[in-house]
Amino acid sequence: MQIHLTNTLSRTVEPFKPLHDGVVRMYSCGPTVYNTAHIGNMRAFLFTDLLQRVLRVVGGFKVQWVMNITDIDDKTIRDSAIGSPLWQADMGAQTEDARENLRTFTEFYAKVFVADIAALKIHQASFHAMPRATHYIPQMQELIRLIAEKGFAYERGGSVYFNVAAWRNADKYGKLFKIDAENFQEGVRIDADEYDRESVSDFVLWKGKKDGEPAWDFEFEGKNILGRPGWHIECSAMARELLGLPFDIHTGGIDLCFPHHEDEIAQSKAGYGVEPVNYWCHNEFLEVEGDKMSKSKGNFYTVGDLTAKGIDPIDIRWLMLSAHYGSRLNFTFAGLEAGRKARFRVQEYIYDLWERSAGTVAAASTNTTAEALRTAVFGELANDLQTPKAMAELFTFINRNPASSVESSLAAALLGFLQELNDILEVWQFTARPAQTLAVPPEVAALAEARWQAKRTKNFAESDRLRGEIAALGFVVKDTKDGYTLEVA
Ligand SMILES: [Zn+2]
Repeated sequence: MQIHLTNTLSRTVEPFKPLHDGVVRMYSCGPTVYNTAHIGNMRAFLFTDLLQRVLRVVGGFKVQWVMNITDIDDKTIRDSAIGSPLWQADMGAQTEDARENLRTFTEFYAKVFVADIAALKIHQASFHAMPRATHYIPQMQELIRLIAEKGFAYERGGSVYFNVAAWRNADKYGKLFKIDAENFQEGVRIDADEYDRESVSDFVLWKGKKDGEPAWDFEFEGKNILGRPGWHIECSAMARELLGLPFDIHTGGIDLCFPHHEDEIAQSKAGYGVEPVNYWCHNEFLEVEGDKMSKSKGNFYTVGDLTAKGIDPIDIRWLMLSAHYGSRLNFTFAGLEAGRKARFRVQEYIYDLWERSAGTVAAASTNTTAEALRTAVFGELANDLQTPKAMAELFTFINRNPASSVESSLAAALLGFLQELNDILEVWQFTARPAQTLAVPPEVAALAEARWQAKRTKNFAESDRLRGEIAALGFVVKDTKDGYTLEVA
């Protein structure tokens, strides 16, 4: 099926055409591993995972997906010097060697990240590569030299900067993000990795070493500049090394448009002489309970925080996928619960279909009704990943075609289609309906056990409270002579 995507370069939905037949080369800005990623960060990674799965399953492409790990930037350097209780518990004491501290500190948080995305069903096997920035420093240095040779970089005070004024004479600066000419401050140099649109000025490519910072040698214009790369140059160099230029799709959160992605385009084109990316795709922000996420508001959650509250990571995945990536998503606990119910409605339908087909699964194309549903649902996914509309198609179908009215060959073809859809969403199981006790989610089982203990110790207020929590998750707990049973409410 023809895939369409919103390209930030044109701000329109465009038909997607890969540079090489049958293969999509895609780069995603990955995490900066200085702490545990929060669910706002996770939205960007779940969006890209959805995109690569739709390209593969609906578009029929092979996908080469690269997502970097930023293991050197302002924040990783700052926090690896301070340390963190989690890291130290895992790795032991800091050493005198700043590079070694940075390495173990970032590897620790990279491991946490990989485990968190695995819980959200973003699999290591889906990646062509997950490069660490520190492994590509020679390539970054080479690119900085190329940019300087073309006249777009200069050294000042022991750091190397990109000359935005010179570049603006050669090409457009502001392809993704409209930059007002009056915002540009000529001759001003900015060293921070992150800055806002008010500070459009020469940005740093290589930062001279400060006391106590990790550093690498860099031969530049006849001298050695001990230092480390700026954040923006990292992605330009890694994307070119691992995918070649130009490549098809570059993704990231909308907040990365400026300066990170704008600077990536300028660097790659200035140094390598190639417009680096055909399609830039950005996902919108996530809010929590209608508010911008922040530590001070107490609505700042990691995957670990939510699973500790008994939330199944699959429900986080489902909620994030059920909103269109181009719209803001309001993440609420009520939304998680409603999503969980919707997800289980489809799961129940799958169990019913399984029963009706006696476990036989056939291709959707073996039945015109199943094939029509497939065309409708995949058509919405192909149309700029319209997941809300795709899910609406599915639920309308389920409402109109209760499992009790579905004969066995249609049941088998529907299962075939739903398995294909699950290759994208990965939120359902394809088996016979498990015995009731096995269908109880672990967090419900844990609550039921806690309630039983409370009752045994005659803490009836607590046992009633837990009964309420269990009911809110859709289960009824019934006491028996020497224990309890759980049933679906
Ligand atoms: Zn990046």
